Amino acid sequence: MTTSQQTALVTGANKGIGFETARQLARQGFTVWIGARDQARGEAAEKELSDAGDVRFVSLDVTDDDSVAAAARRIEQEIGLDVLVNNAGVAFAEVDGRPSTVPLDVLQRTFDVNVHGALRVTQAFLPLVRRSPAGRIVNVSSTLGSTGTVVHPANPFGQVPSFAYPASKAALNALTGWLAVELRDTAVKVNSVCPGFNATDMNDGPGTVGAQHPAEGAKVVVHAATLPADGPTGSFLDVNGVVPW
Ligand code: NAP
Repeated sequence: MTTSQQTALVTGANKGIGFETARQLARQGFTVWIGARDQARGEAAEKELSDAGDVRFVSLDVTDDDSVAAAARRIEQEIGLDVLVNNAGVAFAEVDGRPSTVPLDVLQRTFDVNVHGALRVTQAFLPLVRRSPAGRIVNVSSTLGSTGTVVHPANPFGQVPSFAYPASKAALNALTGWLAVELRDTAVKVNSVCPGFNATDMNDGPGTVGAQHPAEGAKVVVHAATLPADGPTGSFLDVNGVVPW
């Protein structure tokens, strides 16, 4: 069931951009489910965010069918869901590499979370989101997944010596586009966002040189999660507007 209380699930919300997204949505009055694969980290985040509003930890490993199904059952029984944020992500920068050399197992491990994980969660929660009058699905992508950007000779992203992570975000963007097409005649909006360059553990932690605080990165995620009825669907957005696929 869905009540008049707006509800959101953020995957990988125990730290980083997901944590800040959960905080901002809770401050806006959402009941926010903090998806986390580790119970202790999830409960710690729930406690830390309790001042922001109604925040609830739910055990959720995006690579595990049983974990995702159990989370969907629990959220359906307790309150329903309006907003799904597919934020959980991994990057194996130390072993990722250019297309000519990247080990296939690195591609596999990256896709397991960033692509298959997001699709698994989406399939499990879509029946709930469809019942919402204002369903929103946000896929947290990256400009590195914008192939149209990185092929431009002057673009510095093309210098990043990796393929698995960018390819996983390009595939996530494909999910955004194709799901938006499938849901075109419904109230559900599906968008990808790039949160910019953030000082999180995916980079070098709080001291990442040249990076913004993840609270800044979370703003575009929250924007896409709270789009009005006449907002876009099937788009790739960052803080400056539309990003090329
Ligand atoms: P982060 O601090 O490393 O957080 C990643 C989150 O994903 C953690 O909560 C992690 O949980 C979770 N996670 C990983 N595997 C999971 C799994 N199997 N099941 C459930 N949760 C899992 O990274 P971040 O920078 O906040 O990244 C968040 C999203 O933003 C990612 O999709 C990333 O690709 C994207 N992004 C980040 C940047 C950036 O500059 N940081 C730029 C563009 C896009 P654990 O704590 O248990 O590992």
